[in-house]
Amino acid sequence: MRAMRRDKVLRFVTVAFAIGAFIGLISGLAFGGAPGLSTPNAAADTTDITDEASDSTGGSEESLVASGPMTADKARAIGANEMGQVLVLMYHHFADEESEWTRTPENFRRDIATLKAEGFYPVNVRDLASGNIDIPAGKSPVVLTFDDSSPGQYRILEDETLDPDCAVGIMRAAADEGDWTSRASFYCLLDVVPKERVVFGQDDRKQEKLRNLVDWGYEVGSHTVTHLNLSEASQAEATKQLAQSQQILEDYIGGGYEVTSIAIPFGEYPDSDTLLTGGTYQDVSYAYTAALSVNGVPCPSPFSTKFKALHIPRIRGSEPFLSNALKHFKDNPSLRYISDGDPTTVSAPADLADALGEISDSLGRPVVRY
Ligand SMILES: [Zn+2]
Repeated sequence: MRAMRRDKVLRFVTVAFAIGAFIGLISGLAFGGAPGLSTPNAAADTTDITDEASDSTGGSEESLVASGPMTADKARAIGANEMGQVLVLMYHHFADEESEWTRTPENFRRDIATLKAEGFYPVNVRDLASGNIDIPAGKSPVVLTFDDSSPGQYRILEDETLDPDCAVGIMRAAADEGDWTSRASFYCLLDVVPKERVVFGQDDRKQEKLRNLVDWGYEVGSHTVTHLNLSEASQAEATKQLAQSQQILEDYIGGGYEVTSIAIPFGEYPDSDTLLTGGTYQDVSYAYTAALSVNGVPCPSPFSTKFKALHIPRIRGSEPFLSNALKHFKDNPSLRYISDGDPTTVSAPADLADALGEISDSLGRPVVRY
């Protein structure tokens, strides 16, 4: 809803701007658009308005620079590098005591504050895999992923409110406070012991929770039905669980929602990736276009020849892993993904570090080099 409202505001600004420019032309007055729109702040607010505004001739200098198609000069001014590496974080459980696979609410809250302060902005796995990285110019994407649908990830309290100390509660608060938005990807189990890891526990709430997540902007993905080890399972069992987990989640969520990504249990892949990309079990067909592994390195840009959508590496969302990753980006700024603010183009310096690979044309976006 937040995004839609913003789009409407931008549309209004665009239209108001165009009308202002038109009146300016007609009357021969160079007043440059509607009152108040030529301030630097307003110009900053219009960075992603449509070409309509840039085609108008009555705008202020700032507005014209800030809007319209991406150019090498703009990309350079932003310092955009959409060939840079992406931080993908992996979380499991949330409880009051920190341990290998458990983050405390306090530490998770601090992780998000740190990521905000370091210029990161969240996106979903789906959007990483498709290259639809729609974040403000100058920001770096971070993908927060949650495995095992444990209760501390999403809990509804007895008074019907969202637990402010569960992961979703903490992320919703972070979005409300600004400079952040509701994006993260949740990999849910459907039949597992302990039972409390079946879709976040609270059995009578599972459908409501999944729908809320999707409504708020988060992504729901598969983690198989039972946390199946896909490297050891028979092809028949693997096919069954890949189909059923996708279908059951999609049925719970409804509204035509499509589950497109999977977190591979234990990071143990099947012999062939083709098992993930598609199959059929008893008339139920499935397809996954993105899969998450657990090896702790930064993820190549989706626009790089090094990117493998079915082998997206993740870094553990705990210490020292998170600090090490942030230090990696600080020590190697040329390796960091920095958005140009325009999800329809890929901007990158002409001189790229070898480690980033070559620009791939597989996602079909125009490239701006500077
Ligand atoms: Zn797991």
